[in-house]
Amino acid sequence: MAWASDLWEGLLGLLFPPPSTCPTCGEKLSPGGQIPCQSCRSRVRRVEEPFCPRCARPLAVAGQCPGCRGKSFPFRQARAAGIYEGVLRAAIHSFKYQKNTSLLPYLQQLLQDCLEKHPLPEVDLVIPVPLHRSKEWERGFNQAALLARGVARHLQRPVDYHSLVRKYPTPPTSGLSRREREKLLKGAFAARGRRLQGKSLLLVDDIFTTGSTAAGCAAALLEGGAEAVYVVTVAVVD
Ligand SMILES: [Zn+2]
Ligand SMILES: [Zn+2]
Repeated sequence: MAWASDLWEGLLGLLFPPPSTCPTCGEKLSPGGQIPCQSCRSRVRRVEEPFCPRCARPLAVAGQCPGCRGKSFPFRQARAAGIYEGVLRAAIHSFKYQKNTSLLPYLQQLLQDCLEKHPLPEVDLVIPVPLHRSKEWERGFNQAALLARGVARHLQRPVDYHSLVRKYPTPPTSGLSRREREKLLKGAFAARGRRLQGKSLLLVDDIFTTGSTAAGCAAALLEGGAEAVYVVTVAVVD
């Protein structure tokens, strides 16, 4: 159903016309100007070397990640385009909660730049982190699915929207400890069908916080027959 999401991406542009002010700083935009504005873009902190290839966080010393010590994830590697702060945090919020889809091309571009600069092994399919259908209905779209479209175009691989499902709606996890998140998200996802058998997958989401969501998804995908799971997100919480 790739055509359907292409159509949907196009429709979102019509439903939500480009704003006249920059969504992240409120300054007036020149007609046809970039969204967010140049000044905002220059303030986004990208994840650069050294970073942890397992959890995508920037490191003070290469090869030593305090966050990953003694911890194993079911996904093999993760990448994040930028640090979840300031402009990038505002952009993700505006995109996700205010449905400001004029920010989508920029967020997709960040993902593309990240995968060009810090490539992952080749994958067969791109998989967005799913929302529960009640949540998707409420929000009107799944932000991860729209982000995954851009990644899939860049890698020239198909998006699979159906093989991974969220079994029940999970309450917001912000403010919870890693352990609490893990408990909540473990078992929240399931893989279905046979399409994932032996496949290498790239999971796409907006934010990597503790890695619990990505881990919950990756565990379900591996259980569903996937060979390997990698992760890319727009932002990582540092
Ligand atoms: Zn701005
Ligand atoms: Zn790490």
